Amino acid sequence: MRRLAPLLLPVSLATGLVIAACTTPYDTSRVRRWESRYNDGALRPVTPDQLLAEARVRLDLIPAGTAGRRHYRPMNVRYITIHSTQNYTGNAYNHALALKRGALRATRRPGGNRIGFLTWHFTVQDDVAIQHLPCREQGEHADFDGPGNNYSIGIEMCEHSGNDIAQTIDRTARLTAYLMRAYGVPLSHVKAHYHWPRKGLSTPNKNCPHFLMDRGRPGPTWQWFLGRVNLHYNRMLPGPATPLG
Ligand SMILES: [Zn+2]
Repeated sequence: MRRLAPLLLPVSLATGLVIAACTTPYDTSRVRRWESRYNDGALRPVTPDQLLAEARVRLDLIPAGTAGRRHYRPMNVRYITIHSTQNYTGNAYNHALALKRGALRATRRPGGNRIGFLTWHFTVQDDVAIQHLPCREQGEHADFDGPGNNYSIGIEMCEHSGNDIAQTIDRTARLTAYLMRAYGVPLSHVKAHYHWPRKGLSTPNKNCPHFLMDRGRPGPTWQWFLGRVNLHYNRMLPGPATPLG
């Protein structure tokens, strides 16, 4: 038996993989298509500042005291929440403008939206990440009065036509890795919007970000995304990262 054991292990592993491939809805072609756009062999170690430069964050805050920042709502950062816009026409600049103009209204109600506006911290597209809120202020993007809004930085990924989703995902992963260092957030606290139930709604757990979900919920594609975040996090050399507000 001792001589057989090394042979048995690969056979059982292979069988398991075949069964998994037949029973899971994991769309590997999607991930392979995105990965084909990356050049991971060229990645090098970076300082936190260099990783932030790679993420290419541009500051365009909602002015304090207006629209979704009418009231100052401080936040202790404990989580990072990932979304996608499901807006197939608006790019990151359009979202920045809409947030500043107060155009993204929501019905304010007890147990629901608390400020009458939707707000979040960053919108990412293939070539830029725009910051709308200081990270130490609460947004209104996840779960009403739940921990997703009370303790998490909200990042929206763009989906407008012509936008490169693969590069959008990777820019989001770089930004997320930087924010993890800046605010001491562990990878286990990087969450899909799906993770935060919206109490009182018929579908409390939103299929968001939908292109990183499998059958509407976090699965292998989400784990793959966390792997991208971890890849960039592990490139970062030791040292502090400056908080972004
Ligand atoms: Zn969402």
